[in-house]
Amino acid sequence: MASELTRDKAFFGFSPDLTPLARVKQGEELLIETHDCFSGQLKTPADTLETLDWSITNPATGPLYVEGTKPGDILRVDLHEVKAVGQSVMVAVPDVGVLGDVITEMETTILENAGDEVVYKGKVRLKQKPMLGVIGVAPADGTIPNSTPGEHGGNMDCTLVTSGASLYFTVGVEGALFGCGDMHAVMGDGEIVICGAETPGEVRLTMQVVDIPGLPTPFIENDELVSVICSAGTTDEAYKMAVHRMHDFLTKVAGLSVNDAALLMSLAGDLKFCQVVDPLLTVRFEFPKAVLAEYGFEMAR
Ligand code: CA
Ligand code: ZN
Repeated sequence: MASELTRDKAFFGFSPDLTPLARVKQGEELLIETHDCFSGQLKTPADTLETLDWSITNPATGPLYVEGTKPGDILRVDLHEVKAVGQSVMVAVPDVGVLGDVITEMETTILENAGDEVVYKGKVRLKQKPMLGVIGVAPADGTIPNSTPGEHGGNMDCTLVTSGASLYFTVGVEGALFGCGDMHAVMGDGEIVICGAETPGEVRLTMQVVDIPGLPTPFIENDELVSVICSAGTTDEAYKMAVHRMHDFLTKVAGLSVNDAALLMSLAGDLKFCQVVDPLLTVRFEFPKAVLAEYGFEMAR
């Protein structure tokens, strides 16, 4: 199995019409290679976006047909390890990203992935926190380009999507048609210039259907917290959606009262940007598991 899920086996839009790359079993441990978001086209500072083949950007490895999944199921994806390999690349581009109005020179910068660090221009060493920008399942109908996040997951660029996290998606089609890619060796919340340290990578994960009625998806948890992830045309729409979805989770799934959920969200919850540069914008609302435990609620993983 592992040898089949190589980074050259990529697709560029989540769709029910895709031909599965492989059939996988629930609970089976998979090793998936991923490309960087440029399909490895930018290898040196001389490689700029001017010569880029845009048709092969944002590749996701897959799609994988997960046996025994059907529309409406909730699929949990346990990320055992998200690991950067090779080297990372970043680009600064005039008129692109939040600072596109002040950036006048196009630049491609290669960053070294050194041990558990990323080295910026031989000067700044940052601890790696490898994460997947693109991860999701096919929607029930239509094709959603991998550049775009949504209810199916996709290009959410959420820094929580890292080793030790579990994601939850609502399956849109039989087999789910899961895929992932666009790894960042490290990235700040917001992804303001349109990229993190874009890197090839290797992911070790398992997938299984779980029964959590009413769980708002996409949803993510790690040892410390749970979070909803919401994408919309404006950050205003996205944050209101995220706040209401977390409140729905706390009242309908975790069993808190309307006011307890609201007050505790205001007291201990965190509203954060994932990215503000993709075709839809993504925010999340995080809530600590320690507070859920006080109410006798635990996620089942
Ligand atoms: Ca991305
Ligand atoms: Zn990326």
